[in-house]
Amino acid sequence: MKRAFLIPVAVVATALAAGDAAVVWYFKGLREKEQEAETQRVRSSVAGHLLRHVEGVRLFARQTEGEDAERHRMRAEALSAVFPALVGTAHAGTDGKTIASAAIGGFPAGTADMAAGSPAYRAALSGSVAVDDPHPAPNGDSVVAVWVPSQGGAVAGVFRMDRLMEEAMDAATGRGSPFVLRDSRGREVVSRGDAAGATLEVPIGLPGLSWTVRSRDPERARDRTVALLWSIVVLSAALWAGFTLARHRAVRDLEALGQRAHKLAELADVERRERGRLITLLDSLDDGVVLAGPDGKWLTSNMAGIRLLGATPAFVRADGSPYPAEELALARATANGVKLSQEDCWLRKDGTLIPLSIVAAPLVDEEKRVTGAVGIYRDVSRQRAWEELVRSRDFAMTAKTRLSAELEEAKSEEEMVKRLTAQLENVLQPLGVHVFLRKPGSGRLRAERASTGSKSPLEAEAPVVADNSICPVMESGEPLDPRQSKDRVQPCLGRISPGGVMCAPLLIGEKIEGTVHLELTTTDPDPERVELAFELIREAAGSIGSRRFLEVQQQAARRDPLTGLFNRRHFDEVSRIMMVQAKRYHHPLAVLMLDIDHFKLFNDRHGHDAGDVVLREFAISLMKTARQSDVMVRYGGEEFAVLLPETGLPQARIAAERILESTRAIRLPIPGLEHGQVTVSIGVAAFPEHGDSPEAVVKAADRALYSAKGSGRNRVVTANESGVPGTA
Ligand code: GH3
Ligand code: MG
Ligand code: MG
Repeated sequence: MKRAFLIPVAVVATALAAGDAAVVWYFKGLREKEQEAETQRVRSSVAGHLLRHVEGVRLFARQTEGEDAERHRMRAEALSAVFPALVGTAHAGTDGKTIASAAIGGFPAGTADMAAGSPAYRAALSGSVAVDDPHPAPNGDSVVAVWVPSQGGAVAGVFRMDRLMEEAMDAATGRGSPFVLRDSRGREVVSRGDAAGATLEVPIGLPGLSWTVRSRDPERARDRTVALLWSIVVLSAALWAGFTLARHRAVRDLEALGQRAHKLAELADVERRERGRLITLLDSLDDGVVLAGPDGKWLTSNMAGIRLLGATPAFVRADGSPYPAEELALARATANGVKLSQEDCWLRKDGTLIPLSIVAAPLVDEEKRVTGAVGIYRDVSRQRAWEELVRSRDFAMTAKTRLSAELEEAKSEEEMVKRLTAQLENVLQPLGVHVFLRKPGSGRLRAERASTGSKSPLEAEAPVVADNSICPVMESGEPLDPRQSKDRVQPCLGRISPGGVMCAPLLIGEKIEGTVHLELTTTDPDPERVELAFELIREAAGSIGSRRFLEVQQQAARRDPLTGLFNRRHFDEVSRIMMVQAKRYHHPLAVLMLDIDHFKLFNDRHGHDAGDVVLREFAISLMKTARQSDVMVRYGGEEFAVLLPETGLPQARIAAERILESTRAIRLPIPGLEHGQVTVSIGVAAFPEHGDSPEAVVKAADRALYSAKGSGRNRVVTANESGVPGTA
């Protein structure tokens, strides 16, 4: 060994004399590049060493599920056999409380617990591995905690800084080489040896960690032995070449490793930034987003999640019974590995209920393992309220439109009342509906029962009468509203209702023409339904009123106001219809045409008013003599016509003779003229003898009338078979 050393020394001595300057220059030229390579190498080596420790903690964390303190301690001891720098471990829950911890090799207990709550611990809760800046343990030693996410929290491995770094530096630069380590804030954490001699600045970057190591610059150390090395180079050129080649390769490898470590640090930075953005985004949402672990239990949530569900999900159902945890959407999504969506009512901590729409989807890693689940919770209470509103409006609209269509179609008032009753039963499901409706023209204020609710248990009772003396609604016109009054007395029915009572007046025109009375099943009916029922009743009253008005109008249009007989228009319509019927069934149809004799003369002698009296009295006597089915018409002036359905010529003639008789018997209610004779001339014709159209038959009867006038008046003449008038 000694001889081997002495030979190069001798050579160096000679070499120094010849080319010191050249040698120095040569090394200076190499310095920059080599220093860079050395930095990369040390960086990669140290980072690799630290990564190995992180991996160790990660492995350790993977087995933390359901373990007790003793098992935790035993596993920690086992881990420390691989990593001598390990002095403690801890398993902390999401709330920062320690679940299990261990202190190793006589290190003060509690060292690991202290680390919970640090930035690295919080980073681990959101799913990433992170390393804290070194901090002093209770005994003053500098330690560093490596946190990795785990079941229901995070797991830490705590390492002694001096040991960790000494191991790392020994691996990187050789045993005992001096170094100084600074943390991310530039504070000196540990050092070894002659720190002043450490000149190489090596940044170390890992996720959550950025340290700097100053280590001894091997090139600089080499400076002093330049001559010695040079002599070795000269003497062992082949050896040197081989060494350089190997070294270049190593440097290349180290460069790649260093770049990887650098890249990792950059990625960690990007990830941190992205996570920050993601959290801001999630917190701005109205929907609650909850992240669950592989067991389906809540890990973390955005602000809306906390607001909607309370700080943690209370596993309680709306009916007060506990939710089996496995029934919860998040748990089911993780257990079955399938996405699901449902609507549920959630009972919050403050006791309020909130309807939620829930979508839960499993989170799956590259190996298709379910690593947890994400749940999205949406408050649908406003949507529900809207739907309810739309439903009730829809129901009301449908009931109203249907009733108004039905009322339009109804052929009689009775049918209208039936339709109203059916709709009211649909809306309020009452025990009974009673509609009291006064018939038009009925003088007495006595409403008749038009309909009875089919559901009334008291159905078999005798018909009831609503009377203004006992019905407060008939008397006052004010409805009896079950929303305001809980009265159950029903004077009109003479009984007390088992539920509530509702009664509305039927206002037709300005008059109270009846009431609609409902026996309800409850004293507390749905206010909106009650309002709808009132509206339906108003609608029906309006329709009945319109129909009555129309009928009066139609009557007026068909009647002669002076005599009350039908007018010519009605005659034309009815005669057409009767002729169609007569032809179809081969029945006869007779027509009488009548004209008062010398009426002009009467008018001239006694005045126009007396003439009117004659017309009225004649109409009355005509109505008395005619049959129910006969249609009597004032044809114009003092001319009248009678349609006799299903009547042949001989019977028509008999009817005409009867009219002649009764006309002669008229006693005028005019003083002095009581015994003045009123006479009439009548022409008779009939289908089929005198034609098959109303016009033809009327024409024939007219001709017969003309003939009656011509042959002395006050008589009946039947049209002859050929349609030419002849005398009777
Ligand atoms: P004849 O026996 O030929 O039928 O003679 P007449 O006078 O009855 O017949 P004419 O047709 O000449 O006269 C009809 C009169 O009836 C003429 C008209 O002033 C009168 N008249 C028509 N309508 C009314 C009415 O509403 N009231 C009154 N008072 N008179 C009427
Ligand atoms: Mg006339
Ligand atoms: Mg006349």
